[in-house]
Amino acid sequence: MKIHEHQAKQILDKFDVPVPRGQECFSIDEAVAIAQKLGGSVWVVKAQIHAGGRGKGGGVKVARSIEDVKNFSKQILGMQLKTHQTGPSGQKVGRLLVEEGVEIAQEYYLGIVVDRVTQKVCIMGSSEGGMEIEKVAEESPDKIHKVFIDPSQGLEQAQGLELLENIGIPKEALPEGEKILQNLYQCYWACDASLTEINPLVLTKNGTIIALDAKMNFDDNAMGRQEVIKNMRDLAEEDQAEIEASKHDLSYIALDGNIGCLVNGAGLAMATMDTIKLFGAEPANFLDVGGGATPEKVTEAFKLMLKNPNLKAILVNIFGGIMQCDVIASGVVVAAKQVDLSVPLVVRMKGTNEDLGKQILADSGLPIISADNMSDAAQKVVHAIRG
Ligand code: ADP
Ligand code: MG
Repeated sequence: MKIHEHQAKQILDKFDVPVPRGQECFSIDEAVAIAQKLGGSVWVVKAQIHAGGRGKGGGVKVARSIEDVKNFSKQILGMQLKTHQTGPSGQKVGRLLVEEGVEIAQEYYLGIVVDRVTQKVCIMGSSEGGMEIEKVAEESPDKIHKVFIDPSQGLEQAQGLELLENIGIPKEALPEGEKILQNLYQCYWACDASLTEINPLVLTKNGTIIALDAKMNFDDNAMGRQEVIKNMRDLAEEDQAEIEASKHDLSYIALDGNIGCLVNGAGLAMATMDTIKLFGAEPANFLDVGGGATPEKVTEAFKLMLKNPNLKAILVNIFGGIMQCDVIASGVVVAAKQVDLSVPLVVRMKGTNEDLGKQILADSGLPIISADNMSDAAQKVVHAIRG
């Protein structure tokens, strides 16, 4: 689960990680009122969407007068903000964060993630904060420093200091920096975050350290014990098809291609997408119907895929283990009839009651293209979209 920057900053504040004073709002009048209440002479108006790179896309503006605050709020609120993380169509801005402007002396990067290889928590830091960190990682990986934390030990003081020294935090600011890093780690851990990213972490002209941006993602499986965070969910930021899918207990992720995939099992779903790519086409979605797919669930899955205007064909790839091929075949036939299937459908099934399943498909009278193995299926579906 993802949350907005202003929400992440509320959480950081509770853990004594310094953030600029500010407040979220939904209108221009509110934005002006917040700036007036904050006082001072510099404010920052920031689009709140679940994606980074807002600054480059025109979603973060420094205002030097109340008039500026008004104009920038007008510009940003309601805009279709495109960044390298939103995809080509962008994301509509429905809320703003208005906060005090901070005088920046130096921008750093800090990120905390789970490292699956070492089974530890990895804290990454860089002197190259503020810009696209992905680019730094690719072009000058030596500028990214890492420490690995054994969760049972926690972050040791020496590790924290080493990282901060490596990224160039000046000596005078090290004790404060170490305290903030410790609080940030506690925050990450206590909130069941899967990612906590501060880009930029800033050294101000007064020599203090403050988090100017904040991004937090959370482990969905932990939301049962994170009531406050769970309530921060903003459905307007999520893909409508993915919300619909979660209601039917389907794992669905929308993608950019045009071949819909309906698969049982996440691993097989990944392999199916890889095979489609291998034969030169792109999947329209990831869709795992799970182990106990009923005809109703399969029908919902078809409806979801068909809502995508880019969809050109569907590939059903089923391994019949506990799930029997004849059951899924019946489901496919019912679903295809009910949704009035308008695109070519390729089905590959293997396993329990495979012959029975194939017979059901053949007898259905539907123009279903049957395939024997994965590469055959992928080639047939790619051929179908090319006509
Ligand atoms: P994004 O990462 O989505 O582009 P940021 O919150 O990092 O958005 O803002 C982009 C840049 O704007 C920052 O790198 C920083 O230079 C500047 N900035 C952001 N917030 C403030 C602030 N409160 N005061 C001064 N500058 C800011
Ligand atoms: Mg940022």
